[in-house]
Amino acid sequence: MATRAKILVISLLAFALTYWTGFSYLGTALETPAYYIASLIFEKTTSPQELIKKYEKGNIKILIVPGHNKESYGAQYRGVTEASLNAELGSQLFEYFRSDPKFTAFITNKNTGEYNDWISDYLKNQETAINTFKEKVKSIFKNAVKIGAIKIETKVYHNPAADNSSKLLYGINKWANDSGVDIVLHLHFNDYPGRKYDMPGKYNGFAIYIPDDQLPNHQASLEIAKSIRKELKKIQTESNFPKEKDIIIEDQQLIAIGSNASRDGVSILVEYGYIYEPEFYDKEIRPYALRDAALTTYQGVKNFFEKKSVRN
Ligand SMILES: [Zn+2]
Repeated sequence: MATRAKILVISLLAFALTYWTGFSYLGTALETPAYYIASLIFEKTTSPQELIKKYEKGNIKILIVPGHNKESYGAQYRGVTEASLNAELGSQLFEYFRSDPKFTAFITNKNTGEYNDWISDYLKNQETAINTFKEKVKSIFKNAVKIGAIKIETKVYHNPAADNSSKLLYGINKWANDSGVDIVLHLHFNDYPGRKYDMPGKYNGFAIYIPDDQLPNHQASLEIAKSIRKELKKIQTESNFPKEKDIIIEDQQLIAIGSNASRDGVSILVEYGYIYEPEFYDKEIRPYALRDAALTTYQGVKNFFEKKSVRN
């Protein structure tokens, strides 16, 4: 283990050198060690067991990220924006975690959808550092792909403009890594692009996106996602969109859950349903539907730690 750790340190220096100097470290006579090195770089960062130990000490840090914001509101249906649903759901979910002594909870948005000052200040003040972080992880990942240590996988195509607001998401990942956040939950509602303007589309139900199994934060994300799925199923149908048939979907492209190995800890993105589903746009039912979604998500996370979740 000591040797492996040492190699990791050396390899990080080498990659840093490659990055900072533009010197081509890879593809030289050092090709074989480079391959070995890259496989170590993406060595697992968080294990479910470590998380459970932290939980027992009441040390779990969780960040809630309701997708989108007031200006860039994501999907929309009959005057209801995705950002407003995400924000309302998020603030309820945040309250459940905040009142639980096992967790320290953070949230990026207010219940109105605007960003909280701490995150907008961070994004503004750390702009250069965030860009450097983004370029660095991308470059390391690209090199890992180039030497065959990582295989590119695309399962579900994502609209880059809709859910990949790059600067914000890399900023969140950097902040979460630097602050030792154990779990980041991204909240979204889906949309069916082929539907007519104010008519419902053909799909419904929830799906959960987690980091691909080649990414360092895969395993714990998978186990918590399974536990959330089990609870969410009690109140919401599972997605009938054929590409989401696995319901828990491994993904390599979404920045939110750590594309380019940009996230150390657990990151999970929940699509709670399609925006045109009646329980979400009907304003009489909506508060109950969002409360149930928040409560079951909280319960799902909680069950993972209380070891009541499904384990394969
Ligand atoms: Zn969204």
